[in-house]
Amino acid sequence: MNINQYKVPEKAKIHLKDYATTYDGPLNKKEVKSKLLPENLNAMAELQDALYAENTRGIVVVLQAMDAAGKDGLIKHVFTALNPQGVTVTPFKVPNAEELDHDYLWRIARALPRRGEIAIFNRSHYEDVLVTRVHDLLKESPLPEELVDDNIWNRRFKEIRAFESYLNDNGFTVVKIFLHLSKDEQKERLMERITRPEKHWKFSSSDVNERAYWEDYQKAYEDLIAHTSTENSPWYIIPADRKWYARYAVSEIMLKLMKDMNPTYPELAEKEKENLAKWKKILEEE
Ligand code: ATP
Ligand code: MG
Repeated sequence: MNINQYKVPEKAKIHLKDYATTYDGPLNKKEVKSKLLPENLNAMAELQDALYAENTRGIVVVLQAMDAAGKDGLIKHVFTALNPQGVTVTPFKVPNAEELDHDYLWRIARALPRRGEIAIFNRSHYEDVLVTRVHDLLKESPLPEELVDDNIWNRRFKEIRAFESYLNDNGFTVVKIFLHLSKDEQKERLMERITRPEKHWKFSSSDVNERAYWEDYQKAYEDLIAHTSTENSPWYIIPADRKWYARYAVSEIMLKLMKDMNPTYPELAEKEKENLAKWKKILEEE
């Protein structure tokens, strides 16, 4: 798969309508699920092992999408292939009192990976230029009034670019995935949450109400993606109407990223190597 077709170049103008939500290429669902995806997951696990052992760099995976686009399933089917010891998953919900009492990147910084780790963000700091913007939430926020002006979103884009570039300069790569779902497919999935009892727990009436803001969200996404896709921390717009395809596409992105990072197992220092024979002998003679 050529994942570059989904990568958003720096300073691109984005019209989400020009991006496919569905996949209609030659890949076959059965083959992807039974062969191609498992192969990718194995390769990812091997690279993660080396990344963890190397213990110098880390990865942040930002997952953003409209409701019911499949973030949870993606995490379950793609990222559980990795060793849990080196992975963290953080869902970012409506900020709690303590989070509201800080700047918006505070809770994000607390969830950053250690060296060797992969941190998955289920929603992220991008909610602060998204739901916050669509619902005009800054009105009720404790932010000083004089700081809320028409330029605030552009300022936040700049802050986010600087934050991600800082992480990059410190050995942490940020990759951003937008699961691009159609409004019709969302309806189908919300219907399923209503009609299938085992999916009831996923149903939230607010998901239905949010559909009224669909176009506003699409516009906010277009603006944030256009302003924050950079060479080092790009956005990928992934067609998400077919879950199996979206999962495979994300595994391809992760695999390419990890291969490019080329993590290597640390070598023993020469002196330690010389001593190995000695330690072997001691164990043998126990
Ligand atoms: P699901 O698909 O299972 O519903 P979800 O990610 O939508 O998963 P929820 O608990 O339903 O999880 O929703 C989290 C909610 O928190 C979202 O509506 C999101 O917009 C909101 N949220 C996240 N960050 C912020 C923020 N900074 N300000 C306001 N709301 C936020
Ligand atoms: Mg939700």
